[in-house]
Amino acid sequence: MQDKSDPDALVFRCDFCRSPWSEDLAMVEGHRGSIICGRCLSVAYAELVHLMSGRPAQPGDTCVLCLEEQRADPHWESPGYPGVLACKRCVKQSAGVLHKDRDIAWSKPAAPEDAPGTPG
Ligand SMILES: [Zn+2]
Ligand SMILES: [Zn+2]
Repeated sequence: MQDKSDPDALVFRCDFCRSPWSEDLAMVEGHRGSIICGRCLSVAYAELVHLMSGRPAQPGDTCVLCLEEQRADPHWESPGYPGVLACKRCVKQSAGVLHKDRDIAWSKPAAPEDAPGTPG
């Protein structure tokens, strides 16, 4: 999101933890200026992809990144801001974008070593 409280300084903040953009914090933009930072993305990715946990989809749940209502896949909900959701598709897509960007020191979180059935 864009912080419009100070018109002279356009501050971009992660929608999920409200951290302001900074040089050492990777961020991915979603639709309509929504943003997820690398830190949140790591947690979301680990939860949704590796642990297959997350919040089960409920009617009316809308991902802030794609603005679509997801009914099948679970969402990752911001720990600090209830109701701020990211769908699995966006998390995977954003992780792919950051992972490929050589200018950004971010890589997909590794699968937990003791997790069964997750080779490679
Ligand atoms: Zn964040
Ligand atoms: Zn989404």
